[in-house]
Amino acid sequence: MNRYGVVQEQDWNLLQDAEFQALVRAEIEANYPEELRYPPRRLYWREQRVWFQRMAEKGWIAPSWPTEYGGMGLEPAKLLIFLSEQERWGVARFQDQGIRMIGPMLVNHGTEEQRRRFLPGILSCEDRYCQGYSEPEAGSDLASLRTRARRDGDAYVVNGSKIWTTMAHDVTHIMLLARTDPDAVAQRGISFFIIELSTPGITVRPIQDIAGHRELCEVFFEDVRVPVDNRIGEENAGWDVGKSVLSYERVNIGTPQMPAYALERLQTIARLRGMSQDRLVKGRLAELKLDVKHLSDLYTSFAAILVEGGTPGPDVSILKIWATELTRRIADLIGELAGPAGAVKGQVQVGDEQVDVLDVFYKALPSTIYGGSNDVQRNVIAKRVLGLPSEPPLRGDARPSRTPRSGSDA
Ligand SMILES: Cc1cc2nc3c(=O)[nH]c(=O)nc-3n(C[C@H](O)[C@H](O)[C@H](O)COP(=O)(O)OP(=O)(O)OC[C@H]3O[C@@H](n4cnc5c(N)ncnc54)[C@H](O)[C@@H]3O)c2cc1C
Repeated sequence: MNRYGVVQEQDWNLLQDAEFQALVRAEIEANYPEELRYPPRRLYWREQRVWFQRMAEKGWIAPSWPTEYGGMGLEPAKLLIFLSEQERWGVARFQDQGIRMIGPMLVNHGTEEQRRRFLPGILSCEDRYCQGYSEPEAGSDLASLRTRARRDGDAYVVNGSKIWTTMAHDVTHIMLLARTDPDAVAQRGISFFIIELSTPGITVRPIQDIAGHRELCEVFFEDVRVPVDNRIGEENAGWDVGKSVLSYERVNIGTPQMPAYALERLQTIARLRGMSQDRLVKGRLAELKLDVKHLSDLYTSFAAILVEGGTPGPDVSILKIWATELTRRIADLIGELAGPAGAVKGQVQVGDEQVDVLDVFYKALPSTIYGGSNDVQRNVIAKRVLGLPSEPPLRGDARPSRTPRSGSDA
């Protein structure tokens, strides 16, 4: 047993890949609830609690965390198998930002006291997180955020609002970027906090999206008192902490799960429309399959950094671009092959089956925006990977240059 009370039955990395795959597959197929396979929307915690608590009790909730922090410590190839098996069976993801983002961030930026305080709740799934970065006037230009955290004795007093906060109405904690020094230049005066959403003064309001789902929220803060101990990193140094969280997020968005699921759906539609053997369709399918394979290889190299407890560099942006735009290309071909059914929302008759044709499209469309838009990712690659100069200001534009979500100037 490690200091977080999680026991691993064995060192999973010592197993042959095929043996490990069979073990994971057997666990999922025997215990994952049939009615929750391939859900068309994000599930609420009450719907999926039993499964994820089972995973937590088995010690399987944090596959990429090092074992010393309560994870499975899977090396990249095993991690990919673990994720692929979930995707193959249509296992839903829960609001797992605690596992995928907060855990690795605390390992790198938290104090030992903060790790002891926050990691156990994440590992048991009692504490689930959302991301409070974006504001009405601060998306790509995140450093212009205005939510204010003013120091008052042993607490900060937070006032302001966040928007597009995914599933804030179904989690327990929010990671928050707030301005602690209003006089400092853009990203220099920002701090990073972990806040319990039950704290007095916080109001959460869901927003309905184009697909009719209520997954996004607005979060309002009115004189919310947050203990100083909930600040991660130094005061006014939260930008780097927030950036590291974004890099973990980009690895997570870049898993081959979403395009692999889309590919499966594409093959089904092609079969139902009797087009599987069409030479043109076969050629396009082969091309997309290769692209998913390339994504898997790319993902493996970034996952290796996470498994070693590190933080990916700015080049991780390519992973986010590739995964999301590939899914979008697959979604477009699904729509094309589905014919008239490709324009109908919800379950629709295709051949002799009922299928949700637009499901992949609805997943792909926002993915090029969340986690930092793909335009901004391209800027990151241009500036921080290729070393290209910033774009010149527009003629007559006297505004200071903006600091995009990437923190590219930080
Ligand atoms: C489904 C979904 C879930 C989300 N979940 C969360 C969440 O949980 N927490 C959270 O904090 N945020 C979340 N977001 C918000 C997301 O991070 C922002 O939408 C994103 O960063 C873009 O910001 P914006 O919407 O303000 O658009 P803007 O920044 O106004 O951008 C508008 C357009 O201009 C382009 N653009 C902007 N700046 C540049 C530039 N410098 N160069 C080139 N093009 C540029 C953008 O690419 C975009 O196309 C979510 C968004 C979506 C769609």
